[in-house]
Amino acid sequence: MFNALNVDNLTIFRSSLIDSCDHIDHAFSTRSGGVSSGPYYSLNLGLNVGDCDENVFKNRNIFLKTINASLQDLACGVQVHSSMIQKVEKPGLFKSTDGLITNQKNIVLAIKTADCVPVLMYNPVHHTIATVHAGWRSVKQDIISNSVNLMTTEFGAKPEEIYCAIGPSIRSCCYEVQRDMANQFPADSIISRNDRLFLNLVRVIRTQLRARGILPNHIDDSEMCTCCHDELFFSYRRDGTQSGRMMMAAVLH
Ligand SMILES: [Zn+2]
Repeated sequence: MFNALNVDNLTIFRSSLIDSCDHIDHAFSTRSGGVSSGPYYSLNLGLNVGDCDENVFKNRNIFLKTINASLQDLACGVQVHSSMIQKVEKPGLFKSTDGLITNQKNIVLAIKTADCVPVLMYNPVHHTIATVHAGWRSVKQDIISNSVNLMTTEFGAKPEEIYCAIGPSIRSCCYEVQRDMANQFPADSIISRNDRLFLNLVRVIRTQLRARGILPNHIDDSEMCTCCHDELFFSYRRDGTQSGRMMMAAVLH
């Protein structure tokens, strides 16, 4: 279950499953509580989407305060819809990667999204976090399995020790796809309504997690659609290129 937390004008979501663990802090942003205006109203956390950089940095500081962190703690990837996961040992900007993983304290791993699925993985036994930007291309290229593999092979996790949280993203209510794209996914993840096809990408992700040995009660889904809720979330599908970005952030302490 995901819980909303309201501080002044700021709303964030947190996974109660992840909150039940020690030594980790995390948050999923919404569009409330920031300083940006127009299509980026108001907590746009993405650079290079048309908003002014100064506002984005202000917004990132506002958001990171909710997990007692600041800009200099932040580790981000240049996201390219790949299946790459980057091991992180210091904050900074990492080239061409859609996943970040660390067992180091006080480094904030962050993923930016505006419809794609943010997936947080945590192994409370070996104190490892992974943040994954799971759009359809990355999911097709097995970024979920790659992340679980890295946690198990290089960070000593057993799959049944790993907790996962699936944040707000575009859901099958809104995620219409063409036939050629639908054909690339398992039939049980495609919904047909009025001669239109819709993709349930979270179902694909859940199936992949289960196939890698993640326990069903270790998967917490926000069940929130970014495209349905324009008051809460940015959505690329709904708003087009002039759309802000939310952030999922997690830190070990
Ligand atoms: Zn929707």
